[in-house]
Amino acid sequence: MSLVIVGSLAFDTIVTPFARKEKVVGGSGTYCSLAASYFTRPKVVGVIGRDFPRKALSYLESHKIDIQGVEVKPGKTFHWEGRYGIDPNMRTTVKTELNVFGDFAPRLPKALLRPRILYFANIDPGRHEGIRSQLKARPKVTAMDTIKFWIETKPEAVRSELGRTDIYFANDEEVKMLAGDANLIKAGKRVLGWGPALVIVKKGEHGALIFGRDLLFGVPAHPCEEVVDPTGAGDCFAGGFLGYLDKVKTCDRAAFRRAAVYGSVLASFAIEDFGIDRFAGLTQEDIESRYRLFKKLVSF
Ligand code: AMP
Repeated sequence: MSLVIVGSLAFDTIVTPFARKEKVVGGSGTYCSLAASYFTRPKVVGVIGRDFPRKALSYLESHKIDIQGVEVKPGKTFHWEGRYGIDPNMRTTVKTELNVFGDFAPRLPKALLRPRILYFANIDPGRHEGIRSQLKARPKVTAMDTIKFWIETKPEAVRSELGRTDIYFANDEEVKMLAGDANLIKAGKRVLGWGPALVIVKKGEHGALIFGRDLLFGVPAHPCEEVVDPTGAGDCFAGGFLGYLDKVKTCDRAAFRRAAVYGSVLASFAIEDFGIDRFAGLTQEDIESRYRLFKKLVSF
């Protein structure tokens, strides 16, 4: 079992119509590894400044997350600020201060050189190759995510990385933007044609659609009446999905469907509180019980 997650460890400032939270711990690597930790022992790779709280690293360790791949550099930790509308699906990025993440070029420790699953959780696509080239064995699955920031600033790099990726996670807006098509089905299929075996399109409160060569699978989102903070939902979806795949060591269609439900379950918990707070006290049984609820929700 081994899942290596390369992503951001961050301070997030989150603005919703009801609250403003200044510099809470977040980041794609943080959210994703916390979600995956319910299935496997993820290894997270990232960079932080000296201002990142030691307590937050210990918290990751308490979730059995391997943090040997987290580098501490002089300077400030990556800082992202996002503002949500009354509709929590509407998000505007107010600020992206890359800080030490700007020239992030990790050297992977020895224990991380043979991952079964390698996930690029929303980092500069131009950095993927430098990381892949350090590996001693080809991962069984390579997966990646992007957000608008990378699609807008490095579209060619995103596109060429898709040719080397087995599973691509993106949200609906990003897939449409990348494919240049406003129809989600056409856009998903077009991106699938660029290389990945699976394109997983996250649609916020409307769940997710999974496109494969001979697969089209939809999973709902948990019917949640109060979304406190949608930040990290996509990362947690990917963490639940890939963590489950790593646990079951199978990559067939049935496993993909169950993985998608676990992804949606983990995302549904993340949005119930600010930042990573919902993970405090979240148990395996909570996850299994919501998984059963999903089953009821869609069986007919
Ligand atoms: P999500 O809500 O799942 O799309 O992810 C939100 C997380 O992504 C936040 O915790 C941010 O710190 C992180 N994030 C935002 N922009 C970037 C970026 N350009 N590169 C890496 N991580 C980012």
